[in-house]
Amino acid sequence: MSSGESGRLAATIRPSHRWEQADHPYAGLVAVLATKHEKLPLIGPPLEEAIGLQVKAVAVNTDVLGTFAGDIPRRGSPLETAIAKARLGMSATGHAIGLASEGSIGPDPTMPFINTDKELVVLVDDDSGIVVWEIHSSWDIVAAATSVGTGDDLGAFLAKACFPDHQLIVRPNIGPVHPIHKGISSIEKLGSAIAECAAVATDGLARVETDLRAHGCPSRRAVIAGAAQRLASRIAARCPACGAPGWGPRSVVFGIPCAWCGTEVARPRAETYSCPACEHLETRGLVSPEERADPGECPQCNP
Ligand SMILES: [Zn+2]
Ligand SMILES: [Zn+2]
Repeated sequence: MSSGESGRLAATIRPSHRWEQADHPYAGLVAVLATKHEKLPLIGPPLEEAIGLQVKAVAVNTDVLGTFAGDIPRRGSPLETAIAKARLGMSATGHAIGLASEGSIGPDPTMPFINTDKELVVLVDDDSGIVVWEIHSSWDIVAAATSVGTGDDLGAFLAKACFPDHQLIVRPNIGPVHPIHKGISSIEKLGSAIAECAAVATDGLARVETDLRAHGCPSRRAVIAGAAQRLASRIAARCPACGAPGWGPRSVVFGIPCAWCGTEVARPRAETYSCPACEHLETRGLVSPEERADPGECPQCNP
């Protein structure tokens, strides 16, 4: 996270809040999860099990903050969007604790031929002014796309797209933005949507792609569940200084000295743990202080 982001979040903290040291402060409380896409079974159980937080869903229209299909563009960062979604649920229900998730799916920055799904789940607590989030990433995501004409053989594509377990979106390939057919899970509906979209496209083709909304995309659901599990563990962990929930690693410190010349090689050396409510930080080593990097990785010895 950038320092600007953590600074902005820190500005919302109310330092007067006192954390009970005995039981978990969220045990028995209710949080509201803003979702239209059936995320409650993924996010509720880990939080209830780990800390006794009761989660209920509210169906607010989070599409106003952007959609996967791209027909409504996202404006903020994934964290900002997730916080805004959580606040939609909080203001719709009057609950002080809100939850939401936000996913980013696309080519992996280090391996462009592989898709990666990065899922963020956030808890916003306006009673005590803290925001806690966790991220889980996975390459096990189905995200297929192709352009087809009416009557083309789709067998290989549909196998790759794990259809109909994973739903599809169809739209004109080039030309008009509409119609967009989402949530397609039958071969009959797929055929008619392709015919309709190809007929209005300027190149006569329809664009067919995975519908990445959580309810129609089982591979994405698994990644959201993983992020919720991580969030539950993080909220269960308490700050050693003030007792607030949400203590855990937030950033990685890079730099291992080269065995020959001492130049720092960009490998993880330590993690910095931080608290969402106070300024307490701890740096915990990931390798021994004697660890030295292979000169083969060194920008000086092996430029
Ligand atoms: Zn060196
Ligand atoms: Zn603290």
